[in-house]
Amino acid sequence: MSNETVIILGWIGGGAFAILMLSLIWWSLFADRSMGNPRCPHCWHSMAGRAELHSTARNGGSELRQTVADQRTAPWQCSECGGITSEHQLFKTRRRWRHACLALAALLAATLWLRSNLVAGGWCTVTPDRLVIALLPFVPDGTEAAHVRSHLRDRLENGSLSTANALRMIDLAQRGDARTPPGSPSWNATYGPWLHAIAARLSRSGSPDDEPLRQGVLRLPPTLSLRGSEIWWADQPCIVTALARDWWPQPVTLQLRVLHVEGIPMDPDVLKNLQDCRWIHNADDQFDSGLSINLGKLPIGEHHGGLQLQWTAVDSPRTHEPISVGELILPIHVDIQSTAPPLTPISDAEIDRAVAACFAPGLRIRPGHPPQFAFSTRQFETSSTHLRSVAFGVIAHACEDGVPRRTLRMWWRGGGGDRSSSGSESPVEDAQRLITADTSPRWTLRIQGDAELAQRAAHEPVSAAATHYWAGSIEIPLQVEVVNAAEMMRPWIMDRAQAPTELLPPSR
Ligand SMILES: [Zn+2]
Repeated sequence: MSNETVIILGWIGGGAFAILMLSLIWWSLFADRSMGNPRCPHCWHSMAGRAELHSTARNGGSELRQTVADQRTAPWQCSECGGITSEHQLFKTRRRWRHACLALAALLAATLWLRSNLVAGGWCTVTPDRLVIALLPFVPDGTEAAHVRSHLRDRLENGSLSTANALRMIDLAQRGDARTPPGSPSWNATYGPWLHAIAARLSRSGSPDDEPLRQGVLRLPPTLSLRGSEIWWADQPCIVTALARDWWPQPVTLQLRVLHVEGIPMDPDVLKNLQDCRWIHNADDQFDSGLSINLGKLPIGEHHGGLQLQWTAVDSPRTHEPISVGELILPIHVDIQSTAPPLTPISDAEIDRAVAACFAPGLRIRPGHPPQFAFSTRQFETSSTHLRSVAFGVIAHACEDGVPRRTLRMWWRGGGGDRSSSGSESPVEDAQRLITADTSPRWTLRIQGDAELAQRAAHEPVSAAATHYWAGSIEIPLQVEVVNAAEMMRPWIMDRAQAPTELLPPSR
């Protein structure tokens, strides 16, 4: 029996109990009226016979000569218990005080129990899920709404929420509201925990009961936003970083395309090149790795515009079969200044060692499953706080006998920043040679510091600009790890796309 059924039955049972107790109280106090029949107020024995006799005597015989006032106060004696009473006491309502008190005490105890539950877990713990979900839009935003949402997330997580109610939650999320339009960062913050819990549930269970849930999740748009510095330089390409997150069950995969960049005076060739790209997001990306989008060199000045993106949910990264497609515009604001303040070169044995440790895992090879190659890096090796003022821009080459077979340009901020300034370009690689890479001394990893790449990580929205860049150059033995098809490779894979995806009408 589901928790919701328990709550509903609880309310039915509780309601029935309350009605029963209230009826009992009413019955105890008001039900047993005399209705004109005289009764002994002590033993409730009927004194109707006695009253009649008395009355006959009074009317028929003059010898009694009792006045009306006398009759009211005349003593009556019960033939059953011998109790003596006055006439007006004969018509008293019989009240069972003990019963009434017991019923009242039971009602009070039940109310206190309900109240303690309400105090402990809030009203939603004693309300059926369906009602909680229906009421949520009317709960004032703030701590109470957050409490209700986390209550529902807990119910999702512990598996006690029915599929129908989980679908109702997806509907709520899909609708969003004025402050939380679907796909926005605020929407992500509000509904993300639910969607995480649903994704976890779907990945745990292959139950056919959850199929409607799977379909429901597929209707949700991905969350997309831009992050990173707003200050760039006219003599360097301007990079915006797109963050993407989706809630789709695997292997459904997110693909992004730039349809257009509005309001930013871009070089037409650079724009054309962007429009020809298709980026495929790895669903295993645990770090929310940003996608670096290179807008090329821009003229000095402040530019406001929009990045028009198309997102596509494809059924798997292999087949590219579209399931749903949508478009959105992310606002861009960049301030292009003339030239970057130069960064001071820095290189010492300690930083060189940290960079070497960064690249120590070397090359991952996933034979036969594109992308077949990736550098495995550990940027946290440079997170010691005294490297906070150092920007890292490096060109990493996997070399065979000194000849580069794979080149990756990447940048990040030292001192363990918020990763908002990390990025990389698509690698250049010679796949035919790389597949032969091994740990023999013929293969090495050469890493060079680069001032211009470091500038891309020098500015972050929230912290002071970097003043130094790593200017070293190191060469270390190449480590090679052959991994299986399921292993995570790059967070984003670039592909050349032919045309924007169009969703075919469902076939009949
Ligand atoms: Zn009596």
